[in-house]
Amino acid sequence: ATPHVVIVGGGVGGATAAKYLKLADPNIRVTVIEKNPVYIRPYGSSEVLNDHIGMTELEVRYDRLRDRYGIEFLFDTVIGVDPLARTVRTAGGVQLNYDRMIVSPGIQLLYDRIEGYSASVAESRIPSAWIPGHQTRLLRDQLHAMRPGGTFVIVAPPNPYRCPPGPYERGALMAEWFKVHNPTAKVIILDSKDNFVPGPSMLLGWNRLYGYNVPERFREGMPTEGEWPMKAHEEPGMLEWVAGRDGGRVLSVDPAALSVETEAGRFQADVLNIVPPMVAGRVAFDLDLVDGTGYCPIDRRTHESTRHPGIHVIGDACVADAMPKSGFSANTQAKVAARAVVDLLAGRDTQVPLWENTCYALAGTEYGLYVADIFRLVDGRITRTEGPRFLPLDASRAQIRIGALYQQNWMRTFTEDCFA
Ligand code: FAD
Repeated sequence: ATPHVVIVGGGVGGATAAKYLKLADPNIRVTVIEKNPVYIRPYGSSEVLNDHIGMTELEVRYDRLRDRYGIEFLFDTVIGVDPLARTVRTAGGVQLNYDRMIVSPGIQLLYDRIEGYSASVAESRIPSAWIPGHQTRLLRDQLHAMRPGGTFVIVAPPNPYRCPPGPYERGALMAEWFKVHNPTAKVIILDSKDNFVPGPSMLLGWNRLYGYNVPERFREGMPTEGEWPMKAHEEPGMLEWVAGRDGGRVLSVDPAALSVETEAGRFQADVLNIVPPMVAGRVAFDLDLVDGTGYCPIDRRTHESTRHPGIHVIGDACVADAMPKSGFSANTQAKVAARAVVDLLAGRDTQVPLWENTCYALAGTEYGLYVADIFRLVDGRITRTEGPRFLPLDASRAQIRIGALYQQNWMRTFTEDCFA
């Protein structure tokens, strides 16, 4: 009989897995079960806030995956699985048999973990916009309507979270937008962490573009003379980052006042954007794939769940050790899992995988940065290989400009790789 692979979630991980299963073996029947007929991509979604792109440019459709590769789509919500009988159930009452399943449901946001914050507050007044949609539009409109000289406060999430450079890139893009449209406005990033990726190269970009004063502990290796030196500023610039060691950890939020209580005191916002803690998407819990970490433990070689054989977990929802929760990671993991599933269905040995990730990030629309890594399996863990990872701190203006072009081209070619 034709083997049947069911994929739960048609985001970055699920779509890529479906495509690469079909490329490896067109005889496998592949069905993707996805909640929404149109995918709204999270990567690049902060660029809606500064009108660099419109909301519709985030939309991705599935027709090419269906027409080119014969992948079947069911637009419905998965609610349960019987891992022994190998059947999966949907809210719409459909039940499907599978030989193997690949699950890539992304994340869910834990709004209630912050006192005073909730899903309904996020939908109406204090958007997180970390899963794009209505909240992205709301945040954009709030920014555009902010009073002259107002303060935009971003609350960054604790580790681990989707898109490590994301909150800091968002802060930078907002500062850049304010420079033109609201030049006396301020951006404040409140954080429980003392560092982030790609820390120093982003801080240097903020310094150059928004007058950010780089803390002493990050200055090593930053150019102090030459083409574009790092400058120590007397006055605080447009963008401020309050790290955990400086009291940036948020204790509570007052939605009516739009203020945030932190260890360092109270911050008053005109627009407030909170990225709360997060865990694996809800269906991962419904399918009993999650452990105490809030994410899904896997056999790293095949991405097969250590809780339920026959089910593989990829993307933001899985425990992937040193790999960040990024679209690039989800895409690489999808290729590893697809390969393993094809081998397992054929009764072959699985191969030793290799993963890669590059997070491109912007400190401004023409100021591109990156962190690039190769990962190997070492003692059963996904481990980063040592080597240079970041855009060098002494990169020239031209290299920085090219970095921004890489970011834009990556968005385009990456979407093709996943969805076309
Ligand atoms: P998703 O892409 O979220 O897909 C999950 C899918 O599962 C969704 O379509 C959902 O509808 C579906 N689903 C969930 N539950 C069910 C269910 N019960 N039944 C059916 N379907 C279900 N990554 C990068 O690599 N580079 C970047 O520059 C970058 N920038 C980012 C910027 C921002 C502001 C944000 C928020 C993220 C960014 N990312 C970036 C991260 C990237 O978007 C995610 O890591 C990636 O989308 C994860 O893929 P995934 O398959 O795990 O989840």
